[in-house]
Parts: sequence; C-alpha cells; structure tokens
Amino acid sequence: MRKVVCPNIVIFTDLDGTLLSSRDYSWKDAEEALELCRKLGIEVVLVSSKTRAEIEVIRDEMDIDTPFVSENGGAIFVEKDDEPLEGAKFDGKYFRLELGVPYNILVNTLKELKEKLGWNIKGFSDMSVEEIAYLTGLDLSLAYLASLREYDEPFLILDDIDDISPLVKLAEAKGLKVFKGGRFYHIQGKNDKGKAVQILKSWYKKSKGDIITVALGDSPNDFPMLRMVEYPVLILSEKDYYPDIHKLKISKLPGPKGWNEEVLNIIEKLCS
Ligand SMILES: [Mg+2]
Repeated sequence: MRKVVCPNIVIFTDLDGTLLSSRDYSWKDAEEALELCRKLGIEVVLVSSKTRAEIEVIRDEMDIDTPFVSENGGAIFVEKDDEPLEGAKFDGKYFRLELGVPYNILVNTLKELKEKLGWNIKGFSDMSVEEIAYLTGLDLSLAYLASLREYDEPFLILDDIDDISPLVKLAEAKGLKVFKGGRFYHIQGKNDKGKAVQILKSWYKKSKGDIITVALGDSPNDFPMLRMVEYPVLILSEKDYYPDIHKLKISKLPGPKGWNEEVLNIIEKLCS
C-alpha cells in the first residue's frame, strides 16, 4: 500500500456535541477519522468545558496522550514526559498551566453576589452528586467526575429572572465572567478556549516547527478557538449559529458524524 504523507497537523476539538454525541456521549461515529489520525501521527487535542477528571477518562478510553484543556480554558495539562509549557507547574501527574481562577474563589464570589442581589442561586457546590446526575443526565459515576471542578462553577437561577445583567456586571467588577451555557449558567475567570489554543500552538511550533491547525466545535464557547486556526469547523447543532469567522466551514452532519466527515476531508486535502 502507498504510504500517506501528511504535514504536522494538530486538531483541537471540543467534546460535547462535537466529538461526543449529545445524545449518548459516544464518539463511535468518529472512530474512522480518529483511527486515521492515530495512524498518520495527527495530534488530537481535547479542549472542553468538562473537568480534568472527566477528560482523563475519555483520553484513556481513546488511548491518546496529547495535551488537553479543561473547563473552558481553565488549565492546560501536558504529560510529564513532554516539554513543559512556559510557566506551568508540575502537579504530581502533569505540567499544569493555570489560566483560570481557582474554584474556591469562584464559589465564594458567587455566594457573595447571590446575597447582594437576593437571588435564589444554586451552584454545583450546593448540589449532591445525585442532583447533578439528575440535572445533566449523566450516570452517577460520571456526575461525580463532573463535580470535581477546578476553574468553573455551573449554577442555576431558581427565580424567574429574565435579565441577568446585574449579576454579569457585579462579576465583571470582580474580574470574572458570567454566561449562559447549554443547561447552566457559569461563573469563571477571563479564560477561554482560544487563549489556551494560542498557547498550545506556540508550544507545538517549538517542538514540531511548521504546523497546520484545525479546530472543531459546536457552540459559542468554541468560537474563540475556531478563530485561532487555519481550518475552523463549526459542527452542525440544533441552534443556528453563523459566527463571523474567517474560512469557517459548517459541517453537514451533527456531532461525531460531522467530526468524522470533516476530519477525513481535511486529511484528504492536506495529505498525499
Ligand atoms: Mg460543545
């Protein structure tokens, strides 16, 4: 068989609704493209709003040892045998570069703002694992991993409040941001996926020289990451997003099926 030759390609990818199906959290529909990436030495870097503990399980099952980004750019983790990122600290397992605000500060600030506004706010730190499982649809063991938060506090507002701008402003004054995700509101530092990808691009360039970068994501929290790469792909979702991103490709299929098709197309284009 003819040997396929590729340039150095790094694929940054979101998980939920992108590489993982939003229905059953499975990536089996992307297995063909993932396998080809493994074979061709293409790096697949997981960049998710999930916690470190959740991503570790997925990395193990996918059998990849590339760097990864947790909690929406809260931290970048690099394996101990790899070149450390500048400014990273060794945490016993990884070189970890923190870009986010530590969890206890987020939780305490949210409590303070909740009292100030008199709103009925309930964060993950106030919930049992059973409650998190119920609200997310995750089973108990995965809900436990989702509760191990380090750089982001998801929360619900139990009052009927249409305008969250008073909370956004108060958080802003504390150097934090509040935004609405899929199921929950979130409070976190000024980190985002784009800043993390920017740092990892320089890290890869140092060791590999020229690289070609690809990113795939399905939600607004992925847009900063899509803006950082040469081949940005928006994975089709139930929402109609048309972000203004240079060279953006929108997949025809949702979730891992879209991931599979788009990655195979890019590989065909770049490798010979
Ligand atoms: Mg997503």
